[in-house]
Amino acid sequence: MDSLTPILPPAVIGILGGGQLGRMLGLAARAMGYRIAVLDPDPDCPAASVADRVVIGSYDDVGAALRLADRSAVVTYELEHVAADVVAALEARLPVRPGHRPLTVTQDRIAERRFVEAAGVAVAPWREVRTPDGVRAAAAELGLPLRLKQPIGGYDGRGQVRVADAGELDGAWTRLGRPSGSPLLAERELTFDCELSIVLARDVGGRTAAFPVARNRHDAGILVESVAPAPVSPDVAERATAIGERLAAAMDLCGTLTAELFLLADGSILVNELAPRVHNSGHWTIEGAATSQFEQHVRAICGLPLGSPAALAPAAMVNLLGSGPRRLARLIGADAALADPSVHLHVYDKQRVFERRKMGHLTALGGSVEGALERAQAALASLHWSNEMTESNRATQPVDEEDAT
Ligand code: ADP
Ligand code: MG
Repeated sequence: MDSLTPILPPAVIGILGGGQLGRMLGLAARAMGYRIAVLDPDPDCPAASVADRVVIGSYDDVGAALRLADRSAVVTYELEHVAADVVAALEARLPVRPGHRPLTVTQDRIAERRFVEAAGVAVAPWREVRTPDGVRAAAAELGLPLRLKQPIGGYDGRGQVRVADAGELDGAWTRLGRPSGSPLLAERELTFDCELSIVLARDVGGRTAAFPVARNRHDAGILVESVAPAPVSPDVAERATAIGERLAAAMDLCGTLTAELFLLADGSILVNELAPRVHNSGHWTIEGAATSQFEQHVRAICGLPLGSPAALAPAAMVNLLGSGPRRLARLIGADAALADPSVHLHVYDKQRVFERRKMGHLTALGGSVEGALERAQAALASLHWSNEMTESNRATQPVDEEDAT
């Protein structure tokens, strides 16, 4: 098939990963008449209930991925922790969008920094280290505080430690729990004015459509809120967008690219992290933009024209996180949260809740992003997870579900 031939509904879209991103992607694709097949190790993953077919397998299971591909017209991924050889094996059979290159340059933080710098875009000063001595040397060169990050597999602030002072240097390697000799990214901790992100889609012909920049706030590494369009100068918004476009072109991406950015006090913008996929900081687009990031991704990977990314109104998204011990997820207060007609509730239908797990999100639209944020936060305050620990909802398995993004 010619790579420019559109893939039309009711074709099957295969999604590697069945978390909340796969679920929302599936919902958008279904609305357009596509059918959905999902690969995930967990048969009860959030995307299972919106998929026509679930293939059970890990993200490095080539055989399972080929079964997913059997009836799919195109395959995409909702997480960058998919094994690169899975994507390579699939690419021999059918279009995988984004493909191998966007995956390999973003799934390893060290490769990612090299890629970003080679594209002429700035990142925080960093070193690759392989030993505790290497961490000390990096601290001497870069200064403290330092962030020590495992290159592969971290998310929501997991897989990284903060080294605040020299006394913490010796224990840092052990705290991360990595074997000696394995590469780690040591990076200077920056004081930024704010965190931003740019989410854009790039179609099969290389045309891009960027959503308005979002301003994001994290708490201990996990996204808690995004507002868009970010209250920044047009110059900052333009430069952030240009960074996203340049990086998407440099990796020849078809699909969605998110660049997490730091805006420094001197006005410079650095790239913190890339994701070749839809992103938590783009959830506001479901209600807040003319085309959601999920619909846009489907359009891009299916060779359709991109939709308008314009914001419809100032929007705020707050994440609904888990709290308390691992137990069956029972949400209380949805009725109270929705008493405000400007608020929208999204729940990912995860079976179990635990501390800081991403369980859902709320989006509010308003006259200003601050007003929208107040409304979203007020709605969030009326939600909580039932503490009732009956015999049936007590979790017996220490780890029965994990998230991958
Ligand atoms: P993850 O994959 O967990 O999102 P990130 O590298 O994006 O990993 O780190 C999560 C958050 O931690 C960032 O959004 C930011 O708030 C903070 N952070 C990470 N690296 C730095 C840094 N070098 N300087 C300051 N804050 C940082
Ligand atoms: Mg991040």
